[in-house]
Amino acid sequence: MTKKPLYKRVLLKVSGEALMGDQQYGINVETVDRIAREIKQATDIGVEVCLVIGGGNIFRGLSGAAKGMERASADYMGMLATVMNALAMQNALERFGVPTRVLSAIPMMTVCEPYVRRRAVRHMEKGRVVIFAAGTGNPFFTTDTAAALRATEMGCDALLKGTQVDGVYSADPHKVKDAERYDHLTYMDVLAKDLQVMDTSAIALARENGIPIIVFSIHNDGGFVNVLTGDGRCTIISD
Ligand code: UDP
Repeated sequence: MTKKPLYKRVLLKVSGEALMGDQQYGINVETVDRIAREIKQATDIGVEVCLVIGGGNIFRGLSGAAKGMERASADYMGMLATVMNALAMQNALERFGVPTRVLSAIPMMTVCEPYVRRRAVRHMEKGRVVIFAAGTGNPFFTTDTAAALRATEMGCDALLKGTQVDGVYSADPHKVKDAERYDHLTYMDVLAKDLQVMDTSAIALARENGIPIIVFSIHNDGGFVNVLTGDGRCTIISD
């Protein structure tokens, strides 16, 4: 029998890099399909899911600025990259029969809907997956902060961050053999120890609004649904 989910509505943050598969750049369609299947499993057990996808697989504002571009323009390019990723994910989800809407913080009426909070809530109530594209719509922010912001606006019960590893470690587990994995951390632990989970403004926003952040591996089959039913390996960040 399928276990009952612990959460009614969640926001999943997926970094752009998670969509690259074994490529060095861009979108790997098989990888997007695999993540879309994970999301479908979650909607199949009745969880309302919304998504924020990063853009680091295509363009990062900071890298452009490092090469002499004006930071704000480079950031807008980064935000446009997240729209491409959002459309790729929408396409995969709809091929698997999951109704999906992309809402962009930078209006782009011919490719997706503009972000309107009440419309997003309505879509979710109707059982659609909502993908928030173009981050916060503002330069000098990240999609981590966009994830914390949208999770708050949508009244999500948790913000799930799908990463390359199954939780938060004391050091990079790919580099440090005896790095310790934490089951639970407080928001303050993350800030004080400067653990690279999400950026500081995202952690602060989640903390102020009492939204737990759950860090898990997006690459384990069934990992998302396991975390939602309380069975998965993850790190929970709360008070
Ligand atoms: N970005 C931005 N404002 C936002 C969200 C994103 O300017 O609210 C830009 C920023 O340049 C960033 C890029 O979009 O580098 C891609 O987002 P991010 O680096 O957060 O993606 P991820 O690392 O999750 O793939």
